[in-house]
Amino acid sequence: MRKKIPIRKCVGCGESKPKKDLIRIVKSKDGDINVDLSGKLNGRGVYICNNVDCFEKAKKSKGLNRSLKMEVPEEVYKNLLLELNQNE
Ligand SMILES: [Zn+2]
Repeated sequence: MRKKIPIRKCVGCGESKPKKDLIRIVKSKDGDINVDLSGKLNGRGVYICNNVDCFEKAKKSKGLNRSLKMEVPEEVYKNLLLELNQNE
């Protein structure tokens, strides 16, 4: 018996993967963007694979900006990159 696992799409490579393998990025209703490691923050969430390749793709293609409908501050990318490196 297998539990049904939630699937989300990565903004970098565009592949759909189990939610637990992705990192969540959340925009609050005030427009703050945070890397959400708990997966519990309220707001509009986008997902990205836990690897630098997808990070670079998402940054280059501005996939995050499109998904969040705003310009993503450089600081958010920095924070995200730190999280990715920690998990390498
Ligand atoms: Zn990806």
